[in-house]
Amino acid sequence: STAALAPQICVVGSGPAGFYTAQHLLKHHRLARVDIYEKLPVPFGLVRFGVAPDHPEVKNVINTFTQTAHSDRCAYYGNVTIGKDVMVKELQRAYHAVVLSYGAEDNQILGIPGENLSTVYSARAFVGWYNGLPENRDLKPDLSSETAVVLGQGNVALDVARVLLSPLDILRTDITEGSLAAIACSKVKRVWLVGRRGPLQVAFTIKELREMINLPGTRPLLDPADFTGLGDVIKDVPRPRKRLTELMIKSALEKPGEKEAARWASATKEWGLKFQRSPLEVLPAADGKQARGIRMAVTRLEGSGESARAVPTGEVEELECRLILSSIGYRSLPLDSSIPFDPKLGIIPNSLGRVQGAPGLYCSGWVKRGPTGVIITTMNDSFDTAQSVLEDLQMGVLNLSNSKEGFKSVRSILHSRGVHPVTFSDWEKIDAAEVARGKLAGKPREKIVDPQEMLQLISH
Ligand code: FAD
Repeated sequence: STAALAPQICVVGSGPAGFYTAQHLLKHHRLARVDIYEKLPVPFGLVRFGVAPDHPEVKNVINTFTQTAHSDRCAYYGNVTIGKDVMVKELQRAYHAVVLSYGAEDNQILGIPGENLSTVYSARAFVGWYNGLPENRDLKPDLSSETAVVLGQGNVALDVARVLLSPLDILRTDITEGSLAAIACSKVKRVWLVGRRGPLQVAFTIKELREMINLPGTRPLLDPADFTGLGDVIKDVPRPRKRLTELMIKSALEKPGEKEAARWASATKEWGLKFQRSPLEVLPAADGKQARGIRMAVTRLEGSGESARAVPTGEVEELECRLILSSIGYRSLPLDSSIPFDPKLGIIPNSLGRVQGAPGLYCSGWVKRGPTGVIITTMNDSFDTAQSVLEDLQMGVLNLSNSKEGFKSVRSILHSRGVHPVTFSDWEKIDAAEVARGKLAGKPREKIVDPQEMLQLISH
């Protein structure tokens, strides 16, 4: 029968990777059914919980994801943690193919003394806090000092710096009211973004740098010495890096235009880049709990370009600050011990999305590639993975004559374990409630940050 020939596929995680994988499968296979499992009640992963509140246009991808979820061959089951509520092995029994797209839910640690002092936060937790991620809703970051240090020079580091320094009206989108109120009382006036290597190795991109340079009420603090002579070096570097470096050089070395000069002169806040500094220790304040500064090794670069290494010169420098945000990368975790995982690279080993040594198992997104790249990068790699699944269907690697029950069998597992999945129409009720609450506050949305409250709202 046709039903027996319809591939039953499931995707673990409802971020861009999960949704783009599902989209491609549904579009290019007439019969395929795709179920998306998500640990939180609400969908969209880092589009909801990562992307900064002043980048609302980035979140338009949610419209495409919603269309996918509305397909009658697609279903969304939130509030189901794979690896805990249902095991991957159980999914494999229920589906012809299982795609792991569960992202990167942890962060790299600095591994230095003082890292756990109370005013040191991971950028991941800070971002989760202002974006209403349930696990970070009680973070209450200490914003009572004038100087903040962000360790890292990637786009997330710039997001965090921007949120700390932005005029409130720019942030007033779907940022949680609680964090907006906390930021309104913030004393932070100066943010240093610290990198172990030099200007040619920064990981942020030009759009984000430009935003920072043009941020109302702030001025950049760029040390001309860091950029002198770089103009010659960048002649041969790839174009995106060249343009990015040119923008830094221009801001650091050239006389600003009249308008810019006026803005910088009247700015009350500032931000800067500190290069070739490697964190050695977070220094405790007298109370032994908070941080009072950071000790850093001055480094020199060995080699050049992307592969240049930072080597300590022996010179050490201290920077006074209470608030420290470590933004040195996200990190994926293994889901359960039955699935291959490369702890060093922090990814599921795979070729073109096919998990090595595990037929019928696939991966896409950050857990496949590592935690870098924008949504478009994630889209492309998810399409690649979906293509691998389609090829395996066509080549008979996935045996369709072996009929699979899909969600029917997962539903009984969930039922027996007392887990109540949240459907996409449930999410749409939560969504409507959030939009209604936002209206009262003059915002496009006020996120509900307590999962229990979400579940109550849909009478679970
Ligand atoms: P995720 O988006 O993390 O999705 C993974 C999903 O899996 C999550 O919903 C998670 O809850 C779920 N999950 C985890 N574990 C389980 C489990 N055991 N069972 C079930 N579900 C599970 N890109 C841009 O293009 N523009 C931007 O402005 C931008 N800003 C960013 C800001 C930040 C702070 C960060 C961190 C990233 C940003 N990105 C941006 C990058 C973009 O968010 C990523 O490329 C993309 O989200 C990766 O998609 P993913 O699906 O692999 O992971």
